[in-house]
Amino acid sequence: MKNFNYFAPKGLQEVHDLLAKYPESSYMMAGGTDLMVLMGSKQIIPDYLIDLKKAGLSYIKPTTEGLVIGATTTLHEIESSPLLRERCPVLTTTCSDMASYSIRNLGTIGGNLCNASPSADTAPPLIVLGAKVKIQGPRGERIIPVENLFTGPGQTVLKKGDVLTEIQIPDLPTSAKAVYLKFKRNNGMDLAVVGVAICLFVDGPGKVCQEARIALGAVAPTPIRTPAAEEALKGKVLNEDLIRETGIKVKEAARPISDVRSSLEFRMALVEVLVCDALRQLKVLLGQGT
Ligand SMILES: Cc1cc2nc3c(=O)[nH]c(=O)nc-3n(C[C@H](O)[C@H](O)[C@H](O)COP(=O)(O)OP(=O)(O)OC[C@H]3O[C@@H](n4cnc5c(N)ncnc54)[C@H](O)[C@@H]3O)c2cc1C
Repeated sequence: MKNFNYFAPKGLQEVHDLLAKYPESSYMMAGGTDLMVLMGSKQIIPDYLIDLKKAGLSYIKPTTEGLVIGATTTLHEIESSPLLRERCPVLTTTCSDMASYSIRNLGTIGGNLCNASPSADTAPPLIVLGAKVKIQGPRGERIIPVENLFTGPGQTVLKKGDVLTEIQIPDLPTSAKAVYLKFKRNNGMDLAVVGVAICLFVDGPGKVCQEARIALGAVAPTPIRTPAAEEALKGKVLNEDLIRETGIKVKEAARPISDVRSSLEFRMALVEVLVCDALRQLKVLLGQGT
């Protein structure tokens, strides 16, 4: 590995100053669990490495509208947060099924999003929760929905000098529930072959679906929503026929590829199965029986 200069700035302003001072071949690092792999394979050769871990971006806080999570909060801090377990259980269970303990202890939620892998596990649940990210850079600050962050594999809307600083998650009403199901090749650590997140909002007594949000991971160049299937669920009560129809409809939106983890055909079949399983779990969580 080529020698590089390492900085550990003690605040966001210092991060911005360093990014401005070394605009070329400087890279931000949070946990380094994606970055170090790319450096090891020489896909990235930094002259300047800016470590974000001491920049004051590690926190989980309640707000009046929901919760905010600092970008360098680790996956382990998320999975073990009592506040998140109570207010946003889908995110704690998602993070607890990622990587290994040692990787979760280093890897961060901001790094998972900024690395922009199509299979990034935190993206689909954050999308169906309606989460937003705060981006701070030389052009000021902007807040965008997580689903608008990704532009392609490994690519985001972040421009030179931009830092993703915070994830903002609105509270769900009690009549809404979300689940994320991930299929991987083994019971240990692995990236998702397919990931499916669904959030359903129902009315109180009748359990009629008021709103549905479905996001898929690892079946397209970026995480995707499935508007046609979401629309088709509105105004209906979940039953086995509707669940199966939705599985087929969601599959129509998937555009997977074959790679080392799976064939295209297997991914297509998995989408349908995972969507049906997720809807069956939601039926129980929403108190509609088994
Ligand atoms: C063995 C192993 C198993 C894994 N298993 C999983 C898994 O099951 N699911 C999964 O989704 N991922 C998995 N990963 C990938 C990785 O661990 C996660 O994506 C992790 O969350 C990355 O976070 P990080 O802090 O380590 O990112 P880093 O490696 O530090 O950074 C990743 C990229 O994001 C940029 N970046 C980081 N933070 C910011 C920020 N705040 N603002 C702007 N840019 C930023 C960096 O410059 C870099 O380009 C695995 C990795 C390994 C090595």
